[in-house]
Amino acid sequence: MPRTSSTVPSACGSANRAKLPMKIVAYAYEAAIHCPRCTLRRFHVDSEDALVGVLDREGNEVWPVFSIDENASGHCDTCGAEYGD
Ligand SMILES: [Zn+2]
Repeated sequence: MPRTSSTVPSACGSANRAKLPMKIVAYAYEAAIHCPRCTLRRFHVDSEDALVGVLDREGNEVWPVFSIDENASGHCDTCGAEYGD
C-alpha cells in the first residue's frame, strides 16, 4: 500500500527568493531616482517584475534602489513624492 507522506521536506533554497529582507523603494534611470509608481508609468508596465532588463532613454538598465541602499530615501524626480522609509 503506497504511503503518502505529508512530511516530505520542501526543496531547500526555493523559498528565499520571495522573502528577501530588502525591498525596492525606487528606481534609478535617466540620471535620477524615481518612485516605483512613476517608473511603471514611464515604461508602460503594470508590474515591477516587468522592469527587469528594461533600458532607459540613455540605454542604461533601470536599476532598483533597495531600502538598504544609502540613497534609499529622497524625492521622486518625476512627481516629487517622497520614497523610502
Ligand atoms: Zn514619482
